[in-house]
Amino acid sequence: MFICRTIKELHGVLKENCYHKSISSKIGFVPTMGALHQGHVSLAKKSSDRGNFTVVSIFVNPTQFNNPDDFRKYPITIEQDIAFLQSSKYCHVLFIPTSDEIYPPHDDHFFLEHYELGSLENILEGLYRPNHFQGVCKVLHKLFVLVAPNEVFMGQKDYQQCLVVGQLLKLVFALKNIQMIVCDTFREDSGLAMSSRNQRLNNEEKEKATVFYKAAQYAQQHINKHNFKELQTNIVQMIINSGFEKIDYVEFCDITSLEILNNSGSRVNVVLVIAGFLNSVRLIDNFMIAVKP
Ligand code: AMP
Repeated sequence: MFICRTIKELHGVLKENCYHKSISSKIGFVPTMGALHQGHVSLAKKSSDRGNFTVVSIFVNPTQFNNPDDFRKYPITIEQDIAFLQSSKYCHVLFIPTSDEIYPPHDDHFFLEHYELGSLENILEGLYRPNHFQGVCKVLHKLFVLVAPNEVFMGQKDYQQCLVVGQLLKLVFALKNIQMIVCDTFREDSGLAMSSRNQRLNNEEKEKATVFYKAAQYAQQHINKHNFKELQTNIVQMIINSGFEKIDYVEFCDITSLEILNNSGSRVNVVLVIAGFLNSVRLIDNFMIAVKP
């Protein structure tokens, strides 16, 4: 596994390994913020299994944090991450840029002044984390240009982010033919979605956090017996009872637009999206719920 800390090093490695006439490999890209877990590695595995020369990046992107405290507390475990990726064997290049590489001074003209994300900007994560998705678009715009991937691998764990990246690809990379592959959420046996932020939870809190998964099971079992409002009220209660101090949202949404729904209409599936705070750690998850099994 090559480890590149500068754009120059990255381009050197890509030139040698992908752009060479006799090799001409497809590039698969997995952008991350580090504190890697098996969920991240499952994305690199998918990329590698599809025959890609696989680039993983680690960059804790300051522009996507609306809360400075969250940024400050974001776990950084670079040495562990390198060893973990190396042992997985799915990553060919690990790119660990500094902030100056991604956001050099006087480089503002590179980015769009505003990435037009439609309603995605103002609902759910967009509503509770103002400017978060503008920051996500900025960093991915830069990283996609630098890595020039054929395929990018994103986790369904961040469902709204996947829709935002789809929009970014249309807005900025329409002529580049970059395909986004959305990968299943990797979970602990308990049902808890793996997340870098779980590192800030102790074992008891991790057990409490499984309530999102239990809520989804409850929703699936009762989706045809109760309306969305009743389900939502009961799920909020379940989450509070398990020790969460604050809930940002519990909503049933359209799977393509994330429009918040009062009823399923003629839909076959809806997505249940949840965000809440447990001991000051903000956790999110989402679940496909079959309405007409
Ligand atoms: P992050 O480091 O949290 O920015 O995540 C980097 C990528 O990994 C994003 O595409 C996430 O959606 C994805 N990811 C995070 N957690 C999981 C998980 N439990 N299963 C699958 N993908 C994940």
